[in-house]
Amino acid sequence: MHDCIIIGAGIAGMVSARVLLDAGYDILIIDNARKGSASMIAAGLINPITGKRFEPSWRYDDFMSIARQFYSDCEHQDGANVYYRPFPMLRVFADEKERDTFHRKNMSESLQRYIGQQFGKDDISVHPAINNQFGGFRTLDAGIFEYVNFLDMMSEKFSSISINAFVDKHTLTKKGDLWSVTLGGNTYHSKYVLFCDGWQGSINPFFADIDLRYDIVKGESCIIQSYELPETDIISRGFAILPIGNHMFRCAATFQWNEFHTIPTAFGAERLENRISSLIRCKYEVLEQSAGLRPTMFDHRPFMGEHPQCSGLLTIGGLGTKGALYAPFMALSLVKYLNGMEEIDPELHFKAIHHKHN
Ligand SMILES: Cc1cc2nc3c(=O)[nH]c(=O)nc-3n(C[C@H](O)[C@H](O)[C@H](O)COP(=O)(O)OP(=O)(O)OC[C@H]3O[C@@H](n4cnc5c(N)ncnc54)[C@H](O)[C@@H]3O)c2cc1C
Repeated sequence: MHDCIIIGAGIAGMVSARVLLDAGYDILIIDNARKGSASMIAAGLINPITGKRFEPSWRYDDFMSIARQFYSDCEHQDGANVYYRPFPMLRVFADEKERDTFHRKNMSESLQRYIGQQFGKDDISVHPAINNQFGGFRTLDAGIFEYVNFLDMMSEKFSSISINAFVDKHTLTKKGDLWSVTLGGNTYHSKYVLFCDGWQGSINPFFADIDLRYDIVKGESCIIQSYELPETDIISRGFAILPIGNHMFRCAATFQWNEFHTIPTAFGAERLENRISSLIRCKYEVLEQSAGLRPTMFDHRPFMGEHPQCSGLLTIGGLGTKGALYAPFMALSLVKYLNGMEEIDPELHFKAIHHKHN
């Protein structure tokens, strides 16, 4: 008998597992070998300013203060691993229009604090391998979350409480107050079931009646190697080039709304090459290409909550392009909710999404 069965071992599931264990919950994790997991191919960029209009990322300080503390605590407990690295970032303008939008912008205090040194076009402080035809600025408080390091470490730590299987509507049932998952002749009972199933939440039969409006976006990324590109900064312009060591860089990501699969394509490769060559002017070699589906919602907000009719059935999802930023805040909120300490944040409750579209 468990307190909570977590279904899905991406960033949402593994952060939740860690938080629930720390709070004394007996848990079981079920995942189908991370097939189609967005977390395994995410670039890991955490960026306080997003979009072409240079808006501060939604509730960035709330989410980031919790995430920073959470990952730092995990690093201390797990020894030598580094999960989050603050990293300098250059945001270069795409064209004159974007530069003018930035300069005309009313710099609210919430935005100003993330803007470091501004530089003009062809400024000599910007490395010549970086295309800087329109100027830009340094972003403060950006960083890289090492998704794969974190998830591999969690898989190792939780191996004795993990099962490799897919949970469908026939394997999960409820009797009285107890949930049961039956797999390969074994039945596991639990008070709570927490779905952290990423984009597969859009076809999850247990939440079908909640009317969660997904807008799944495929993304392709690649790893390049270049001996001419500096490893000192993330370079970003809606698409980012992130140094990952040994003259290698992760380049991410494309946005493709019309493809509902995780296979890298020639079309994706062409788009990646276009985006890379618009940001840098130096020789590089593409080492590998990958693709994933982002669990994005129509309003680009994450959601969580307990099913209104099925008590004990919980979900955390819709992490979109910002899983590493949102997951710790949401997992900690969930534990406080389960412990009766606070209600779920109304802006994160899936009711908020429901109301917006009805
Ligand atoms: C190309 C690309 C680049 C990205 N770059 C960044 C970035 O720079 N920074 C950032 O923060 N985010 C980035 N993201 C977004 C990030 O990947 C997501 O926000 C995050 O990974 C979502 O995590 P999740 O745990 O909700 O879902 P997932 O990682 O998809 O995990 C869901 C897991 O549930 C399992 N599962 C689903 N249903 C079942 C079931 N019924 N039974 C058993 N197992 C099940 C799946 O196998 C999977 O392992 C990027 C995404 C893509 C595609």
